Amino acid sequence: MPMSVLSLTDVYRARRRIEGRVCRTPLVESPSLTAQAGVPVYLKLETVQPTGSFKLRGATHALAVLAEQGGQRVVTASTGNHGRAVAHAARSLGIEAAVCMSSLVPRNKVDAVRALGAQVHIVGKSQDGAEVEANRLAREAGYVYVPPFDHPDVIAGQATLGLEIVEAVPDVANIVVPLSGGGLFAGVAFAAKAANAAIRMTGVTMARGAAMHASLAAGKPVLVDELETLADSLGGGIGLDNRYTFAMTQALIDETLLLDEASIARGIVHAYREERLVVEGAAAVGIAALLDGVLRTKPARGPIVLIATGANIDIDVHRKLIAASERSDTTTSSTPADLKS
Ligand SMILES: *Cc1c(COP(=O)(O)O)cnc(C)c1O
Repeated sequence: MPMSVLSLTDVYRARRRIEGRVCRTPLVESPSLTAQAGVPVYLKLETVQPTGSFKLRGATHALAVLAEQGGQRVVTASTGNHGRAVAHAARSLGIEAAVCMSSLVPRNKVDAVRALGAQVHIVGKSQDGAEVEANRLAREAGYVYVPPFDHPDVIAGQATLGLEIVEAVPDVANIVVPLSGGGLFAGVAFAAKAANAAIRMTGVTMARGAAMHASLAAGKPVLVDELETLADSLGGGIGLDNRYTFAMTQALIDETLLLDEASIARGIVHAYREERLVVEGAAAVGIAALLDGVLRTKPARGPIVLIATGANIDIDVHRKLIAASERSDTTTSSTPADLKS
């Protein structure tokens, strides 16, 4: 069983290691979503983490374990939420971080990682080239590569979110988790089902380029084409050599939902207008699934928790989505392409 890589003791240990470096985030009831669902609906606000996403949990835990073992240098190739989280965690633990990026990464993302104190290595013209350089630094220069999801210490860090949910809502019936590489899903589902095996675990992702969904359907990790989507933090593959998150997700998932772009846009707009929250596309999928009425908890069996995983949306994209919704009161025509124009 892949589950044996993680025990509940590991998760409690992870919580102690990250305490004081990662927020214990608020969990708030949403009156509008509660009215919609007919059961209490809560939002777990990872948007308030210092780097704007839950990825700080797994990265901080993995780096804390490394620091205990005397590790001094870490490297990653992520320019998104994981890259920020590694940079922030490294600074908080007093170790060195390098982030490899291609020359095509926008200036603002490069600056954001530098501002967190990481060294930026610009190499080549593609994400693949950046990965190659990160692996080279790991092989030849004494850096430890920190993967974004497929690592037991990362999964244990994300699992602390599951502990917080079951402690705050002991009778939770359904937890809805944005799904990409599956580190978040595997961790939260492990902790939640350890508390109560009857908790229904739903993974939600975008229809455009959902690697974990395609892999679950195929019964093994498969490649999918990466497509532009509003839920950009859910893009990317799960790795053909996936070791942990595929098997754990396969074992723990009760339902997978795929959403189109218009629905994700509605989720972002709802979060802003009704909850006064700025969320990125990846974080809006739970809200969107509930608004679409596709969660199978109807008729209601008990409280639902949606994880608002991150706030890091391009502010121009956000502004355009809100403006478009105000013009038409519907966002059905919004696609990522429209928003770039
Ligand atoms: C990474 C990420 C996810 C998905 O997490 P996985 O562990 O890759 O499944 C969801 N939302 C946000 C905001 C993320 O950054």
